[in-house]
Parts: sequence; C-alpha cells; structure tokens
Amino acid sequence: MDSRQFRQAAHAAVDEIIGYYENIQDRRTLSNVEPGYLQKLLPTSPPQTGEPWESIQKDIEGKIMPGLTHWQSPNFMAFFPANATYPSMLGELYSAAFTAPAFNWLCSPAVTELETIVLDWLAQALALPSCYLSSSEGGGVIQGSASEAIVTVMVAARDRYLHEKTKHLTGGEKDQKICELRGKLVALGSEMSHSSTQKAAMIAGVRYRSIPTSIASDFSMTGDGLNRILEQCRREGLEPFYLTATMGTTSTCAVDRFDEIADALRDSPLVWVHVDAAYAGSALVCEEYQHHAKHFEAFNSFNMNMHKWLLTNFDASCLFVKRRRDLIDALSITPSYLRNGYSDSGLVTDYRDWQIPLGRRFRSLKIWFVMRTYGIEGFKAHIRHHVKLNDLFHSLILSRPDLFRILTPPAFALTVLSVALSNDFVPDASNQAILEANSVTRDVYELINSRGEIFLTSSMIGGIYSIRVVNGSPQAQESHVHKAFDILVRTTEEVLSSR
Ligand code: PLP
Repeated sequence: MDSRQFRQAAHAAVDEIIGYYENIQDRRTLSNVEPGYLQKLLPTSPPQTGEPWESIQKDIEGKIMPGLTHWQSPNFMAFFPANATYPSMLGELYSAAFTAPAFNWLCSPAVTELETIVLDWLAQALALPSCYLSSSEGGGVIQGSASEAIVTVMVAARDRYLHEKTKHLTGGEKDQKICELRGKLVALGSEMSHSSTQKAAMIAGVRYRSIPTSIASDFSMTGDGLNRILEQCRREGLEPFYLTATMGTTSTCAVDRFDEIADALRDSPLVWVHVDAAYAGSALVCEEYQHHAKHFEAFNSFNMNMHKWLLTNFDASCLFVKRRRDLIDALSITPSYLRNGYSDSGLVTDYRDWQIPLGRRFRSLKIWFVMRTYGIEGFKAHIRHHVKLNDLFHSLILSRPDLFRILTPPAFALTVLSVALSNDFVPDASNQAILEANSVTRDVYELINSRGEIFLTSSMIGGIYSIRVVNGSPQAQESHVHKAFDILVRTTEEVLSSR
C-alpha cells in the first residue's frame, strides 16, 4: 500500500467507523453467531497474492460485524464499560504510525516523558495524595490491564518483604531464610476482589486467602474481617505480605473500608496494600468521590483503567506507586545490550523497570489527546451523566417493588437487582423462596441476553442470583435507561406468567 492508497483507504475506513458509531444503537448488542462461524466464512489458507483495500474492507461489515458484541453501544450495560472516543482513536493511529517500543528513555524520549507528564496530570485530576507524583518518591506508569498492574505490584511487594525480612543476614543463611519465607507468603484479597488478585498470586507463586464479606457491610471488606484473617494466617505460621483493597468491586461496586484497613495494618508496615479501582477510580475526577483518595496515602499503590470509564480506548491501565524504588528494585535487570549513558546517569526513567514486558506502546499519546479534548470539566460531566442515569434506573426499579429487589445500594453507575418473589425475603440461600427467585432471575437474565437488544451481566452475590446493570457508554441517554427498564419489566412478566 503506497501513500496514495493509504490516504484513500484511511478515508474510507474513517467514514465507515463514523457510520458505525452513528448507527450503533440500531445493531443487535450481543452477537449471536455460533462458535466457529468465521471459519466457515474465510478461506482455510492465506492469500497467495495481495488484495485491494476495497475487498478487504468489505469483509468488515460482511464477516466481522456479525461476530461483534457492540461494547460501544448505549444498549451495552454488561460487565463494566470499555469507553472508546475519537480523540483516543487518533492517539492510537499516531502511536501505530510511530511504533516505538520505548523501553528505555533513549528509545524515544517523548514516549517516556509524555507518559510521566500525563500520569502526573491524571494523579492530580484524581486527587491522589502527592506521594504518587513523580516529583516525590512515587509516580505512574501505563500498564495493559489492571491484572497486569496487580501482578507487577505483587512481585514488588514480595521482593520488598523478602528483602526487609532478611536484610540482617548474608550469604547462605540469607538464601536459606528467603527459601523458607517464600513457602509461607500469603497474598490477601476479599471475597469480592476481582479474580485478578488470585491469578496474580498463582503467577507470583504465593498462597492466596480471601477475607469474607457480607451483606451487613454491603459486601465491602472491613477491618474486623481483615484482622480475623491476619490472625488466622499468623496462627498458622504464614506471612501475609500483600493485600488488594478495592474501590468498586466487580459484582456490586462496593468500596472497601479503607480507614479500617489502614488501622488494621498500622503495625504491619511490610504488608503492601494495593487499591484496585479498575472501574470506579474514574469517578475520582469528581469532588464528591475524592474523599476516598485521601486514604491512599497509607497504602502503597493504586490503579484505575482509563479504558473502562474515562473516554480512552483499551488499553490504558494507569498504575501509581508511592515508592518507585520498590518497583525498580524488583524488576530491573540490565544486560549489556540495554545499557546506555542516559540510563547509567540515573537522570532518566526507563519504564521497562516498572513493568513485566520489555517493549511498550506509546499509550500516553491517546491519554494526552483525550485529556486535552475533554478537559477535567469534560471528565466530570461524563461521570456525573452516568451516575445520574443510574439514579434514574434505580428509581425506576424501586417503582416496581412487586417485580424487583435492589440487592445493594446503587454505586457509581451500577445497579444490582433481582426478581422479587417473596415478601419475607431473607438473604439465606437455603431459603426455598430465594432458590425460586434465583431461578426466575436467571431465566429473565438469559431471555434478555438471548434476544440481544440490550446486554446485561449476572452475578451470584451472597447466594442471591443478581442482574447487574451499568451505564457507561458515552452515547447513553435517558431513553436507553427507559428502554432497558421496559425490557426488564416485560421479560420478567413474561417469565412469571409462563411458570
Ligand atoms: N479489577 C476490577 C475491580 C475489575 O472489575 C476488573 C475487570 O472488570 C479487573 C480488575 C480486571 O481488569 P483488566 O481486564 O484490566 O485486567
């Protein structure tokens, strides 16, 4: 493809993308193709000769589109959102054009320096304590996902713990003690932490324990719950070294009790606390949520995904650490071919030492474009719009107590509900009424998704089968909330009358 052909193809692609966004709400939200559908549509071997762009582009609509679930549709209310916007797409376009896997500062100084600058901007926008800024001992780094961020900090936490516990020893004695401690290390999360913490423990080769939660605390982790597990670990001779606390759990968007967690760990300074705010961290741009951030000073790291709810397309998971030295000590390894005068001078940041991979994408460019296009005011308006839509949805659900129950208070832009069958509802899964309500709620949920007009997700919470409804598309309006509510009512009535 030469420059002239690229210009033509790029114009045609942009036109198609704009058309896609303008009409996205009319498409079936959830793909309904059968497994292996694409195999039947594509040749089994690669083309021997090149094809013109027109024939390649034609297959987007004909072959790819049927197999897409439309995450950008305002009728997509499942999981958490995955915002994409035009300025972030432009960032991706330039990033692809420059393709500079800038693991060292020298590999493209702009890639490193822009990342430091935009993450400092973001830290300020989110009202993070100043210890997370690059001007102090901390700083931010863009990772591919919250899961990657969690593995990265868990490795740093593990190495810091082992180092601190053995720093008085040397030689074989030190090695022996490290081996002994390694087998006893425990990473902690709550029952409601995202599975990425457990997965990180698997990857880091450490044990995992979870802190029970209950409906009494709206499924947030409490200081008492944490203390109980800490005591249990210590009784068993185990070494808790890491904890994920969550702002906005996946099932119900609970916020763990940060003040109680900080109190519980006051005498355990070697337990690294990471705040996973993958989805809800975006809300920190609004003053009404910023009280959460003041607690982070007592913790060690924090991550939020701009690619969930802050107008930036995948991937843009922003990780902040209080002491960058901890990451660098755990992850830095410098073979001769990576050495250079700038790195040796200690005056530059080499982000390869803040992450697991070596190469990295120019992701700060899209964040820079997005921040400049929307401004902090635009971010606040975006978040508040969805919170308001969720308030509307929540009030609609409350208007039908004959059909629905709210399981936990509405949080951020999420409502969690189940079908109401019995007036004497008690949160006990052995109760026959609940088993029946679970079965009806499941039927309603499955029927809605099988029709694909809107897409929702479900979750099992404290024995209750629940439907999660999240507003997060930049295109979402009140009409979409009313549509989702009407579909829920209609489908629930249909399921109930068929029983
Ligand atoms: N943490 C929380 C609270 C989440 O809800 C999710 C995903 O939804 C994750 C972590 C994992 O995110 P990622 O896909 O960026 O690894």
